Amino acid sequence: MDGLPPAELPEIAFAGRSNVGKSSLLNALTGRKALARASSEPGRTRELNYFRVGDTLRLVDLPGYGFAKAPKNEIARWTSLMRDYLRGRAPLKRVLLLIDARHGLKPNDNEVMKALDDAAVTYQIVLTKADKMKPTENQETIAAVQAAIAKRPAAHPLVMATSSETGDGIEALRAEIAALA
Ligand code: GDP
Repeated sequence: MDGLPPAELPEIAFAGRSNVGKSSLLNALTGRKALARASSEPGRTRELNYFRVGDTLRLVDLPGYGFAKAPKNEIARWTSLMRDYLRGRAPLKRVLLLIDARHGLKPNDNEVMKALDDAAVTYQIVLTKADKMKPTENQETIAAVQAAIAKRPAAHPLVMATSSETGDGIEALRAEIAALA
C-alpha cells in the first residue's frame, strides 16, 4: 500500500477471475496492444498495476482470482492485498467486476462481491467476450446477473456487455468511466 501513487486522481479498478479477459479489455479501452499483458502473468498475484489516463484518472488492474490450483499462501496474500486496497483507498470510485459472458457469476465472484459490499465500494458488472454468445443469450445473462445483484448493497444496477474482439460495448464503457472521472 505504501508503494501506490499519490491519491490525487480518481481510480477505477478492474477485477475478475483469471482469464476473464481483463488485460484484453484494458487494452481495448485504452487503444493499446500490450499495455496490460504483464499483469496477468502467473506469480503476479501481489501486484496492483496502475495506468494513468492523462490528467484525469487512473485505471487499476487488480490481480486475477479464482486460481483453483494456487497455493494457500498466494490466496491469502491476494485476499489481504484486496482488503487493504478496498478499505484504504480514498480515490477509488468504482470497481468494474468482469464476468465471462459464457459462464455468468461463479462462487468466487460472489465472494468478491461480498468483500466489496463489506468494504462499501461500488462495483459494476461488465460481461466480457460477449462475441462468443448470441445477443439474446447475453440479454438472458444480463437479466440473471441483475436479479442476483438486486439486493446487494454496493452493486451498481447497470450491467454492461463488452467484446474486446469486436469492440462492442467498449465505447459505452469508456463513457461510463469518463463520467466517473
Ligand atoms: P486476463 O487473464 O483476464 O487478463 O485475460 P486475457 O485478456 O489475457 O484473455 C484471456 C483469453 O481470452 C485470451 O485468449 C484472449 O484472447 C481471450 N479474450 C479476451 N477477450 C476476448 C473477447 O472479447 N472475445 C473473445 N472471443 N476472446 C477474448
